[in-house]
Amino acid sequence: MTTPIVTRNRSSIISSPYFSTSTKLTTVTTTIKDKNDETPKKIIKREQIKIEYEEKEEELEEKGDKKRQRNKKEKKIKNDIKKEEEEEKEEEEEEKVIEDIKIKTHINGISLAKIHWKEVWDKIKIMRSENLAPVDTLGAESFNQDNIEPIEKRFHILVGCLLSSQTKDAITHAAVVRLKEYGLTVDKMLTIDTNELETLLYPVGFYKRKAIYLKKIAEILKNKYNGDIPPTFKEIEQLPGIGPKMTNLIVQIAWGRVEGIAVDVHMHRISNRLGWVKTKTPEETMKDLESWLPKENWATVNHLLVGFGQTICSPVNPKCSNCLVNNLCPVGIIEMNSSKKKIKKKIKK
Ligand code: SF4
Repeated sequence: MTTPIVTRNRSSIISSPYFSTSTKLTTVTTTIKDKNDETPKKIIKREQIKIEYEEKEEELEEKGDKKRQRNKKEKKIKNDIKKEEEEEKEEEEEEKVIEDIKIKTHINGISLAKIHWKEVWDKIKIMRSENLAPVDTLGAESFNQDNIEPIEKRFHILVGCLLSSQTKDAITHAAVVRLKEYGLTVDKMLTIDTNELETLLYPVGFYKRKAIYLKKIAEILKNKYNGDIPPTFKEIEQLPGIGPKMTNLIVQIAWGRVEGIAVDVHMHRISNRLGWVKTKTPEETMKDLESWLPKENWATVNHLLVGFGQTICSPVNPKCSNCLVNNLCPVGIIEMNSSKKKIKKKIKK
């Protein structure tokens, strides 16, 4: 007897457009004969036809899949090319707008804010007097007001500056207060356990590394400088964890001498936004500013701009609409005149 499944497969062969007429006839004949009798030979033949049919079907399916994949790939490539062309066009337009802005905000390549730097300076001073900044009450200069021995005060200033890098003024200040409660002297820092010192410094940025620096500094001051901080820029700069920016600040606050400009991230950012400098690092900004800013302004520029950066010209979303120099600053001019967010972002960098 023929099984129902075989009968169904034969029907498919007969109705399929993929088989020749002779194959179909053979299938029909086989089906009729099978009703009476079925020899092993016939069974094999029938199975062969079945396999051939299935193989043919698979082959066609595979061909269809490949074609679909090819079409999909071609479509994706076309879309990518289109997207790239659109981006290039947009980029070109942005560059054009930025160039236009530069022409409007610069004269002979020098920014209006630099040409009129004194006016900018005075207006920033006005804004600073109206907005109290963290640096006014918690910065390194605040350690200079303590009623203590000058040698101890100088050490406090040095420690405050060491802790202040990569750390907000309020956090630095709180850590110095904790150290003072413990006893912020060279001798105490020599004997304090490193873990205990780390606990006192936390959450100052890089507090573990700074704890090690502080102990090393105490050792150097004790052995080389009789417990005081070194008197010269060169010697202070060589202390562990103290860079040129810190050194300028320490020399200025602790020894009352101005030997350079202390440039931090706020100063670096604002100087570039104003077009006072065109630099990549705070060190480059320091050198550039020192090349043209009159020396009598060196002592106050750090305090002026750091506080300005903490209150108005913040790293993200500067308050350009409230800024008195938004008619001279290239970033302010674009902020006030362009609605394109992408361009604003590029200019603020
Ligand atoms: S206009 Fe904006 S970017 Fe320029 S100095 Fe003022 S706040 Fe900073």
